[in-house]
Amino acid sequence: MFAKHFDKLNLDYSIEYKTKKNIAIYVDINGVRVTAPHRTSIKHIEDLLLKKSSWILKKLHQMDETKQLVTYKEFTTGEEIPYLDNNYPLVVTSKSNIKKASLSFQNSCFTAEIPDNYSSTERKTALKQLLIKWYKTQGKNDIQERLKYLCPKLGKHPSKVTVKEQKTLWGSCNPIRKTININWRILMAPIEIVDYIIVHELAHLHHPNHSPEFWRTVSSILPDYKERRSWLKKHGITLDLHTKFKN
Ligand SMILES: [Zn+2]
Repeated sequence: MFAKHFDKLNLDYSIEYKTKKNIAIYVDINGVRVTAPHRTSIKHIEDLLLKKSSWILKKLHQMDETKQLVTYKEFTTGEEIPYLDNNYPLVVTSKSNIKKASLSFQNSCFTAEIPDNYSSTERKTALKQLLIKWYKTQGKNDIQERLKYLCPKLGKHPSKVTVKEQKTLWGSCNPIRKTININWRILMAPIEIVDYIIVHELAHLHHPNHSPEFWRTVSSILPDYKERRSWLKKHGITLDLHTKFKN
């Protein structure tokens, strides 16, 4: 991947060459990203950017608004870590006699220890990874608890639940294997939103699609599911440990 500036639109974008047939343009909070077949000329790419410029500029404008909802974590003492309905304080201590970072959660507080020679990038990388690991472990326990309550209502029980990294989905379901995957990021949301994702995936054990019957099943358990879904649409971007590694 490499970065380019397109003078005509005064636009920064990145290009990633891939084994594929078509050029695709993506706009998200990190900016404009192009994926293109190997050996596509810059001129060809920039002609397309020009052609799509009104769509790109509109999207970038929307992203500016979205970005205002996002805060970036430094992983230093005084920050708060969201989990379900609460924010828990983080305390980070530098130590000279340790080789790697560690994290524990006790008395409603995250306590981290890092080697005193860590750079800020090393601190952010290590603590972000440790927190994600904590979200996955703690999240699995709490989701199991919610399942005890929600499964009888739906009359379906998954054979296995995994809390893991999912780039674009909040949850997924394999109706044949009866397994459910939940994105760890959803655990930063209030419990009503987590319940919506769990019910959504459990309902897929009845209907492996988004048919009217599927939504009727969801609605029979959560009559206000539409509000929960639109909360997620608006706030979903904030449910992450956003980190800036540059500057
Ligand atoms: Zn679905």
